[in-house]
Amino acid sequence: MQLCDFKDIDISAYGALVVGSGFAGSVVARELAERADMRVLVIEKRTHVGGNMYDEHDESGILVHRYGPHIFHTNDKRAFDYLQRFTGWRDYSHEVLADWYGTYMPVPFNKNSLEIAFGQEQGQAYSEKLVEAFGDERKVTINELRSRQDLELAKIADFVYENVFLHYTLKQWGLTPEEVDPSVTARVPVFISRDNRYFQDAYQGMPASGYTPLFEGMLAHENIDICLSTDATSVFELEFESDEENAPLSAVYVKGSAFLGPIIYTGPLDELFLSRFGRLPYRSLDFVYETYAEQYLLPAGTVNYTVTEDYTRITEFKHLTGQIAATTTIMKEYPRPYDDPKRQIPYYAIINDQNNAHYGRYRRMTDNLGNFYPLGRLAEYRYYNMDVIIGRALDLADKLCASAGA
Ligand SMILES: Cc1cc2nc3c(=O)[nH]c(=O)nc-3n(C[C@H](O)[C@H](O)[C@H](O)COP(=O)(O)OP(=O)(O)OC[C@H]3O[C@@H](n4cnc5c(N)ncnc54)[C@H](O)[C@@H]3O)c2cc1C
Repeated sequence: MQLCDFKDIDISAYGALVVGSGFAGSVVARELAERADMRVLVIEKRTHVGGNMYDEHDESGILVHRYGPHIFHTNDKRAFDYLQRFTGWRDYSHEVLADWYGTYMPVPFNKNSLEIAFGQEQGQAYSEKLVEAFGDERKVTINELRSRQDLELAKIADFVYENVFLHYTLKQWGLTPEEVDPSVTARVPVFISRDNRYFQDAYQGMPASGYTPLFEGMLAHENIDICLSTDATSVFELEFESDEENAPLSAVYVKGSAFLGPIIYTGPLDELFLSRFGRLPYRSLDFVYETYAEQYLLPAGTVNYTVTEDYTRITEFKHLTGQIAATTTIMKEYPRPYDDPKRQIPYYAIINDQNNAHYGRYRRMTDNLGNFYPLGRLAEYRYYNMDVIIGRALDLADKLCASAGA
């Protein structure tokens, strides 16, 4: 990887500018560098590449994720094949357990969970009821389950709502399940199955040596230079069509000249425009790490605390990475309101009509600038899994390579 200091760079040497080195930025940077033979400058405000996928060894030598546990899973063969170029894979299917007053049950809530919650006989009877109502091996959202006018289904729905969704959602979002966008609760359905895996995708696993080496490999190209610890908002000068608050962006100046090549921007749009319409709402997280002199502490990669505790979940990294060591490190996640951009990280966009409209105001300011491409979970104010972002980055790269004649 070629690292450089922003103050030393000659901006006229670059054909494209990428802000952010998560999957959105890194995939586009690599594609433009390789396929379009474009010199690409990547600007990253953190001290490392890899965005939220960044991992590193902690003081006790355990490989840990610094911005939330990341498990790769996809049905998109193109995204999976693309990453094969930069990493080998460790076969891994993530399993999540709910800690229900000290008893573990699989999440998504499934036929096995029903038997743990209600006993074998009643659990099986409820499973049959679910199969009858929705079909076998089906995923049903909690809203769909709760909408049925049937006494037995209502009993199952009430149990799952109360013991799996309600407290967890209150902790995670500071809102009840009714108040969050249905797409959010739909991410954890009820699964009418005995399959305890958290994901059923065709391709799932973990990068064999971790995510950071994957990113370092992707960004190691002679056409790519990377400036770390460089915030785009402090090196960009923005020009607008007029002095009006809503005036569209007309150019991005870097080191005194308008940058005319593609600018792929993967940071938050509100920060770029200095929050002129107010900050976009997010949820943030605090992570607390604990290391124990034990091989393993938990029976699965992640345990969700759905009825007790202030934290939402604990991840034990060794399950994910397969690392063999005498000690183990776990990470507790404490959801927080996002109210201090200097200290906190915006993790989850709070999706609702009002916030989408708020984002729309920022987004419209970029529409007229033909070489400006907002991409990724922050710039698009959406929740995207890694594979979706890789797919979107490859689509944008195809478009940009085609217009560069490559
Ligand atoms: C807690 C958590 C767990 C997750 N787990 C999974 C999972 O298990 N599986 C899965 O598929 N997905 C998971 N995701 C989603 C995954 O994190 C995203 O898909 C991924 O981060 C999207 O990549 P990105 O490049 O859009 O954003 P990011 O990874 O956030 O990268 C954006 C980069 O831009 C940089 N940046 C921002 N502003 C500026 C600026 N002004 N100047 C310079 N640089 C800037 C940031 O520092 C960052 O490095 C999870 C998300 C969260 C929050």
